[in-house]
Amino acid sequence: EVKNVLVCGGAGYIGSHTVLELTRQSDSTVYILDNLSTGYEKTIPKSDRVVFINGDVSDVDFVDREVFSKYKIDAVMHFCALIVVPESVTNPLKYYDNNVVGTLRLLQVMQKHEVPYFIFSSTAAVFGIPETSPIDPSAATVPINPYGETKLVVERMLRWCSEAYGLKFASLRYFNACGADKEINIGECHKPESHLIPIILQVALGQRENVQVFGDDYNTVDGTCVRDYIHVTDLATAHIRALEYLAKGGKSDVFNLGSGLGYTVKEVVDACRKVTGHPIPAVVSPRRGGDPDSLVAGSKKAEEVLGWTRKYDSIEKIVETAWRWHKNNPHGFDHAH
Ligand code: UDP
Repeated sequence: EVKNVLVCGGAGYIGSHTVLELTRQSDSTVYILDNLSTGYEKTIPKSDRVVFINGDVSDVDFVDREVFSKYKIDAVMHFCALIVVPESVTNPLKYYDNNVVGTLRLLQVMQKHEVPYFIFSSTAAVFGIPETSPIDPSAATVPINPYGETKLVVERMLRWCSEAYGLKFASLRYFNACGADKEINIGECHKPESHLIPIILQVALGQRENVQVFGDDYNTVDGTCVRDYIHVTDLATAHIRALEYLAKGGKSDVFNLGSGLGYTVKEVVDACRKVTGHPIPAVVSPRRGGDPDSLVAGSKKAEEVLGWTRKYDSIEKIVETAWRWHKNNPHGFDHAH
């Protein structure tokens, strides 16, 4: 039985939404380990089933002493990672250190305490430039940047750990996470902001003049990149389904998590215009490095094997939830109540 779940990086964007869903959809007690480097304490629910531990996942002694020796942790969900692709290209060792070595250290402590289940935040970036669309989880993994490479290294490390030590893991490859919880005041906030939907909504808030569309000569319907935008609450739910699956004896595996629908950058801008009522000027700009034409998830495996279902089925519904958060919190968590 899974009583105590440790969520590493539980104060971040996807982690905080998963903590919230764990309080809604499970009876587990949730332990959050986060160093608040990119997460926010304000996201942590006030509940006697949620315990916050401020610390670094790669600090083996601390994690051993203050987490695994104190509490009998049954499962770990691991969201701590650096995620900025261009930064990973200019500073790969920083990414290997944080994303690979950090995870390795965590797995060592878990092994010492014989923790059986591990849910890992992976990414569509493990595929690089895919040969098929939608992308099946079994497609070739050839990352084109250090960020994707560090996630793939961990996926492979997990496979060997499962064979050697019997660790049960699920590796969840997120496509484009977006949106915000529809009730609680948490949402997406990166500093500086780098992701498409928050950037577009900053234009609607009057914080930017326009949105730059990075390239309109891709091999897609309107020339702009196609991505698969998946609501963060649906992603969060997938973690709970994955843990239930492993706890029932399911075998370790990798899954893609997307909506199965692709939208071009222009279509996303249009959806944001519709939802916000703001004209949102868009300026075509040069391509950004390392962007594949199209990334759309084949999520059938997650649906069939994990029994995962999505609540959000259109980009407009997703943008509505993001817009509510951004309107209420124009400066992110800095002035949030
Ligand atoms: N994009 C854009 N303008 C921006 C930010 C992003 O045109 O200001 C494009 C980007 O090139 C990609 C898509 O929007 O094709 C989604 O980018 P994002 O950084 O949100 O996520 P990624 O797909 O890189 O994970």
